[in-house]
Amino acid sequence: MASDLMAVYNRAPVEVERGEGVWLHATDGRSFLDCVAGIATNGLGHAHPALVQALTDQAHKIWHVSNIFRIPGQEELAHKLVSNSFADVVFFGNSGSEAVECALKTARRYHVANGAPERIDIFGFAGSFHGRTYAAINAAGNPSYVEGFGPRLPGYEQLNIDDADAIEAAIRRPTAAAIIVEPVQGEGGARALDEAWLRRVRQLCDETGTLLIFDEVQCGMGRTGKLFAHQWFDGVAPDIMALAKALGGGFPISACLATAEAAKGMVVGVHGSTFGGNPLAMAVGNATFDIIAQEETLANVRTVSARLKAGLEALVARYPDIAVDVRGKGLLVGVKLVTNNREMMATARDHGLLVAGGGENCIRMLPSLLLTEQEADEAIVRLEAAFAATRASLAKAA
Ligand SMILES: *Cc1c(COP(=O)(O)O)cnc(C)c1O
Repeated sequence: MASDLMAVYNRAPVEVERGEGVWLHATDGRSFLDCVAGIATNGLGHAHPALVQALTDQAHKIWHVSNIFRIPGQEELAHKLVSNSFADVVFFGNSGSEAVECALKTARRYHVANGAPERIDIFGFAGSFHGRTYAAINAAGNPSYVEGFGPRLPGYEQLNIDDADAIEAAIRRPTAAAIIVEPVQGEGGARALDEAWLRRVRQLCDETGTLLIFDEVQCGMGRTGKLFAHQWFDGVAPDIMALAKALGGGFPISACLATAEAAKGMVVGVHGSTFGGNPLAMAVGNATFDIIAQEETLANVRTVSARLKAGLEALVARYPDIAVDVRGKGLLVGVKLVTNNREMMATARDHGLLVAGGGENCIRMLPSLLLTEQEADEAIVRLEAAFAATRASLAKAA
């Protein structure tokens, strides 16, 4: 069918009519177990009653006012985020890319406030994803995302996670502003960084005054079984952190968190957003936060993740011709395939399971944080059916 949309997406032939918990129901009558969850966004599943209530209650009051007025819901959500993290201050935006933009601007302004405006260099990592704005694509440096958009922005360089010497040299460079990294890479294929790596980068940043930015847009807000992924390790908090995706439970919300020190250059007039943190968004954000931050929710992520991963590992052992590795943390799980991951997404869909793609030929599972053990088992059953169908079609082709 001809479409009036810009052709930047290769869309799956599914039209969702409604969702309920981990289930999606399509207009043609098919139902799917949803392990995409709007790419880790619908952290509490679809149509969670508390979120529906918060959204509709607020819709009857006020939707939007502008940040030139006080917005109580912002004060409330900022206080919750600050009370539960390393941060002292919060800026609200609408998307992950905007939170990343704010983080990068905050880092450069910090050095300006310190009288060191030459410190502009931002170092990102191969395999990372920070969004699609100019700064975000330059910070991640993925060639296929930066090509064709004119010259690279000055002051952005890409490093390799495994190149310890280059990382140290970069952090020590007199013009270094910040390191930006996802503690668990999402789009790149569910790669979790280890404690030693994070600790070393934190120490080098402390020694040199280079700021550490964590992009927890995907791995934050309960996804790994802690409220924030870096909280698995003591003493590796960032100076600045970007959040989005599950923060709004499916409503577009993002936040840039920072220590008071790191945010000292962010004074009146240097940054802003028209829609960011509007009352409608904040009503849903507060309701979402209250449920995700409960120990019960985080404990569920840890339990169900263990079950899902054990099931996937057993599956990989039974199908070494199809898959080779299970990785990731919490309910940000990647399965590295031998066969093509895009084809597997379609085959899984044919068997009633939605999974996302990821770097290094992974399929990614990012279900609701409220997924039950029974639903995790059902996901394995459906994925096994897709693996079996793939094996059968390989045998036929041979
Ligand atoms: C999705 C994502 C972004 C970008 O978020 P948008 O809302 O698409 O702008 C940034 N960083 C990470 C780690 C992400 O997963």
